[in-house]
Amino acid sequence: ELANRMARRAVDVIKVLMKNGMMATVNDVIDADTAELVAAEYGHTVKRVADSDVLEGLKGGEDAAEEMQSRPPVVTVMGHVDHGKTSLLDALRATDVVGGEAGGITQHIGAYQVQLKTGQKITFIDTPGHAAFTAMRARGAEVTDIVVLVVAADDGVMPQTVEAIAHAKAAGVPIIVAINKIDMGGADPMRVKTELLQHEIQVEDLGGETIAVEVSAKKKINLDKLTEMILLQAEVLDLKANPNRTAEGAIIEAKLDRGRGPVATALVQRGTLKVGDIVVAGSEWGRVRLLQNERGETVPSAGPAVPVEILGLSAAPEAGDDFVVVENEARAREVTEYRARKRREARQATSSRQTLDQLLKQRAAGERKLLPLVLKADVQGSTEAIDGALNKLGTDEVGVQVLQSGVGGITESDVILAHASGGAIIGFNVRADKLARERAKRDGVEIRYYNIIYNVVDDIKAALSGMLAPET
Ligand code: GDP
Repeated sequence: ELANRMARRAVDVIKVLMKNGMMATVNDVIDADTAELVAAEYGHTVKRVADSDVLEGLKGGEDAAEEMQSRPPVVTVMGHVDHGKTSLLDALRATDVVGGEAGGITQHIGAYQVQLKTGQKITFIDTPGHAAFTAMRARGAEVTDIVVLVVAADDGVMPQTVEAIAHAKAAGVPIIVAINKIDMGGADPMRVKTELLQHEIQVEDLGGETIAVEVSAKKKINLDKLTEMILLQAEVLDLKANPNRTAEGAIIEAKLDRGRGPVATALVQRGTLKVGDIVVAGSEWGRVRLLQNERGETVPSAGPAVPVEILGLSAAPEAGDDFVVVENEARAREVTEYRARKRREARQATSSRQTLDQLLKQRAAGERKLLPLVLKADVQGSTEAIDGALNKLGTDEVGVQVLQSGVGGITESDVILAHASGGAIIGFNVRADKLARERAKRDGVEIRYYNIIYNVVDDIKAALSGMLAPET
């Protein structure tokens, strides 16, 4: 790539490197200082480009308070498999009053917005489960305002229910519990509520603050109550955005459509996206040729919390990428070329494994620094003992945040959670399965194995002391 940019042959660059005592092949990555040396040898002056040079000002500054207007909430549905997430999303889709006789929401574009009888709107992310939610967070996209946790009343709290709770909590997103399948013979909503207590979710009837609604997705019972509670929670959150500015948001889904070319579903988070805008999405860009909603209709623009499909991008971006509208094509090219290069470099970088130390150093200075950990052990007794011991290690300045603790081997889902929160994984008398190991390697998540509790505590204590701000 360096050779390319200087319009030289790669072998010539390699020769220069060898002359300077560096054995390299075309596939190797060289550091910036070396690259500068080589470039100087060819008579080029090097200008170092930092992230801030290219990306500064890409996103607009804060909006003035008087420009902010209420916006609909964005909701993700999570819960254990077969507890009715898909059924609930389908049932809620049908509550939309806009489609009317023309037909309701027909396309799966990754998110849909319903308008209720009252005129109020709610946006639902149309991919249930925490895998998509966390994958998006891992890419920096925080789109969900409220998580609806579906728990089947005949089955109770199950492993993925617990995972979903951990993911929502790690993201700091409030939970509304939808106790589903209350039409079933064996339904026992009270059991669900008491089981949730063990996972620090205390519903209102039991003196807590979490809203729980008993519903049936199948028989369409209490859906209006659920949407009412979502809107109530949204009111508490006081969700606002400035619609009168250039658009910014996140990519929810993207694909290469045979007929339409690259299609990306964008969720606008601030501003209004319009046909003709020049959009940068991750490392792709394009001029918006067409905007389409979840009913397959063409729309001229989309404001905050409105999901739309964008046609006109050069290629499909990735789910979780951010998007912004920029002033002109030159700016769009500058940003996307820079990002594409960065992504290539990141892929090539030999070892991107993050050590506990690095994770800690990245945390912002000043505030109490927390080391996020996922804890897996062979028996419940061990998780409790380790969890307890680790929690005692905290001081005013530093501490441990156990994102999730559980019994069993380390799975891909654990890695995704740790990655999304910038944390590490502790395995006590358990190993990671193949998928988890591969994922951890790819995402640079550290997995540490132990069989003596004392060693876990000792290591974490050492990591935490490295986290302390330098004494002045
Ligand atoms: P998901 O895996 O969480 O998306 O669950 P699904 O929506 O696919 O539902 C799993 C099964 O439960 C399906 O057979 C549904 O028909 C059934 N189901 C979902 N909601 C209800 C409900 O409220 N009552 C009853 N009786 N069955 C339901």
